[in-house]
Amino acid sequence: MGSFPFLPRIHGSDAGDVAIIGLGRFGTAMGEELVASGVQVLGIDISADVVQAMKGRFTQVVRADASNIEALQQLGVQDFQTAVVAIGDNLAASILVASALIKLDGPEIWAKAASEQQAEIFRQLGIKHVFEPEKNMGQRAAHLITSRLSDFFDLGNGFALAIATVPERVSGKLVRDTRFRSEYGVSLVGIKNEDGTWDQVSPATKLIAGQTVLAAGPNNNLERAFS
Ligand code: ATP
Repeated sequence: MGSFPFLPRIHGSDAGDVAIIGLGRFGTAMGEELVASGVQVLGIDISADVVQAMKGRFTQVVRADASNIEALQQLGVQDFQTAVVAIGDNLAASILVASALIKLDGPEIWAKAASEQQAEIFRQLGIKHVFEPEKNMGQRAAHLITSRLSDFFDLGNGFALAIATVPERVSGKLVRDTRFRSEYGVSLVGIKNEDGTWDQVSPATKLIAGQTVLAAGPNNNLERAFS
């Protein structure tokens, strides 16, 4: 493992070295975030202009047609722990690249889908990790604009985590005296202090209107609990 023999290995990342194919907004943002957390990232794009613009922002950026299995092999992608297909809009290219990565039979594959159909094709190909950023963001935005939640993370199967503001009606109450859990099935997990740090919530935590809390529970009940 490790396709950057000229660089020291960085330990501590579950993803290992990551190859990102397609350096549009998604691929770029993902790569930069990984680099910032100490992960070694190889960026691959078919466009010379894109590669030129990305030079220096990842551990290495190369121009290649990632649907070509030999090109991937020459870059050592088979030795990467993780490869990401970050081509969304070009359906044909994303499928060809995914297929080449499957043939490589090395890295764990993650793929970005811009549509339901594309997500389904990836799953049919056996890719277990499919991102659907537009869909997820749309769902999240819907919850945010129709509720008083300030952030919302759908965990699937109707369950979510939310950042919310303690409503007036429970102000001054201890958590055990509220009906968050009995009425809504919502658990308060964390509470934000004035200095921005977070504390765990216990049954004896006193709630004050306006405080920020992290809550977990069924999607629709989260909105109702904090309305
Ligand atoms: P975003 O919404 O994240 O900006 P997107 O899903 O619409 O991105 P594009 O902006 O089209 O995707 O970016 C995909 C990138 O993938 C482009 O920079 C394109 O040059 C690159 N690309 C397309 N085909 C291949 C290929 N066969 N091999 C490598 N890179 C490719």
